[in-house]
Amino acid sequence: MTAEATQTMGFQTEAKRLLHLMIHSLYSNREIFLRELISNASDAIDKHRFAVISDPNLAQGVSDYRVRVETDSENQTIVIDDNGIGMSRDEVIDNLGTIAKSGTAAFMEQLTGDQKADSQLIGQFGVGFYSSFIVADRVVVVTRKVGEAQATQWESAGEDEFTISDAERDAPGTTITLHLKSDAEEFADAWRVRSVIKKYSDHISVPVMMPEAPVPVEGDAEVEQGGEPEWKAVNEAKALWTRSRSEISDEEYQGFYKHISHDFEDALSWSHNAVEGKLEYTSLLYLPKRAPFDLWHREGARGLKLYVQRTFIMDEAEQFLPMYLRFVKGVLDSNDLPLNVSRELLQQNQQVESIRNALTKRVLDMLSKMASKQPEVYDSFWDTFGAVLKEGPAEDFSNREKIADLLRFATTRDDEPRQRISLKQYVEAMKDDQQAIYYVVAENHATAKNSPHIEALRRQGVEVLLLSDRVDEWLMSHLGEYDGKTLRDCAKGEWEDAGADEEAKKALEEAEKASESLIERMQGVLSGRVAGIRPTVRLTSSPACLTVAEHEMGAQMRRIMEAAGQEMPETKPTMEINVEHPLLKRLDQEADEDRFSDLAQILLDQAVLAEGSSLDDPATYVARLNKLLVEMSDA
Ligand code: ADP
Repeated sequence: MTAEATQTMGFQTEAKRLLHLMIHSLYSNREIFLRELISNASDAIDKHRFAVISDPNLAQGVSDYRVRVETDSENQTIVIDDNGIGMSRDEVIDNLGTIAKSGTAAFMEQLTGDQKADSQLIGQFGVGFYSSFIVADRVVVVTRKVGEAQATQWESAGEDEFTISDAERDAPGTTITLHLKSDAEEFADAWRVRSVIKKYSDHISVPVMMPEAPVPVEGDAEVEQGGEPEWKAVNEAKALWTRSRSEISDEEYQGFYKHISHDFEDALSWSHNAVEGKLEYTSLLYLPKRAPFDLWHREGARGLKLYVQRTFIMDEAEQFLPMYLRFVKGVLDSNDLPLNVSRELLQQNQQVESIRNALTKRVLDMLSKMASKQPEVYDSFWDTFGAVLKEGPAEDFSNREKIADLLRFATTRDDEPRQRISLKQYVEAMKDDQQAIYYVVAENHATAKNSPHIEALRRQGVEVLLLSDRVDEWLMSHLGEYDGKTLRDCAKGEWEDAGADEEAKKALEEAEKASESLIERMQGVLSGRVAGIRPTVRLTSSPACLTVAEHEMGAQMRRIMEAAGQEMPETKPTMEINVEHPLLKRLDQEADEDRFSDLAQILLDQAVLAEGSSLDDPATYVARLNKLLVEMSDA
């Protein structure tokens, strides 16, 4: 080994913070380090297997893939050894020290200070290797990449730096030696370690082996001398999804879920199916309980773990489920796809398309079954992932109706505790002569609930769906109708279309006659800001509200597009006024033109505020209002 071959390098900043945390704060649930290291080893073996598919020479004599775990109570070490893909010198430097992992910063942000919860977060953020330092004060990694002759040693005490040097290793793979801290000696005990492996790694498909302690026979000299121990698998080591459902316990399903998802919580539900016939595949799909931190990141991890004939092919194969089901985790094992299948190939493959359709249906069925059989469980699913599912009707036209049945909305029906209903429930409760399903969209629930646009409907006892998710307007415009009933935005179009009864229509005609001169005066003042002004009976307690035409974008959608930096064409809303309201009566009688103008502007500004939008010129609004307040107190 040459001197140049030994390098001392500093950890990348975030890695350093993470290490500090591992070493100084995470004491509870320390055993998870073993789960993380075994999981890495098993991934490395999957990658080796996969590499051999394209180049059989890379097998390099390895046929029995395994992870070995060996404890040494005398030297206080535990060694985890695999015959997986190994790492080159550059990879070691990148992977174990210098590359800022996308998840690390997010991980740091989510820390709660609660040690138990925090340590459970570790695995989820892909920072598994560093968990070694929860129990070790020195870690030595010797690794050799498949296809390369040179091995590399990485060593660190988990503080600021690590050293890299050339090393020797007979075969490809990775050996990690943890020198245990004095308070972590339990992990040098074979029995303790065995039970941890059973607990976390039973479902891992490679054998995790420990040396079988030779039973001491009195007078047996050979035992004293030692010798090559016999390695025995500690875990079940059979790919879980290949076993039959009846043989698999819920604990095993949950354990496997945690392995593939890096989630620390149980899954909410799962569906395990072996399909035979024209296409042959096995799928095991899970619905998580918690949303991953990157659920809303455009580049967030999603997709299934893909296997072909039980050989691991790739993580995050995203072609098998639509975007709006991106929260689903699981495994797909196909018998038909070629072993050398690539991401590009997956994109235009007929079989992939068929499997995707079948899996989509399977997930939607799993959800509808849950919604009808376990409504409370479904409610919690909806709280977590409802907003994602709402992308469905726009993305997947063919399953529009199925998805529509899964949607849940808040409603004017009953508010404490906030009840959410399905469209089916809405339709069942509709009045006989009601033609449409009414909804109102606003920035948040309270604004929707108090929206002036639904005052008259409320008084008539017509139920209105209260929408306040960002995707809601988009969703509704793609749904269009449900069960033959039009979905109507209460803030769009004219009141007559929005289901006024005969009585209301008559009242409206009278209001129109009575308010001609008032409207003309108001138009003189407000014409630059509104497309028109008309009387309405949709309001009962508010003086005014804004509406847009049926085909135009609503206020909520407009705000979202603007926030996303989109140039929006300028459109003016229509101002609708409640001529029965005392303020409008007062306005009608106002002789002073200046004060008339101030009052009219304030009315319009308030209508803008009531729909949850912000004023272009709030200072002028405040000034006008204050002027009136002063006049009032002077009077
Ligand atoms: P994660 O496994 O979530 O990516 P880790 O910090 O545990 O995060 O590991 C970082 C990277 O180091 C892995 O992605 C892998 O490329 C590499 N690595 C870790 N352990 C091994 C191993 N036993 N064999 C080969 N590569 C490994």
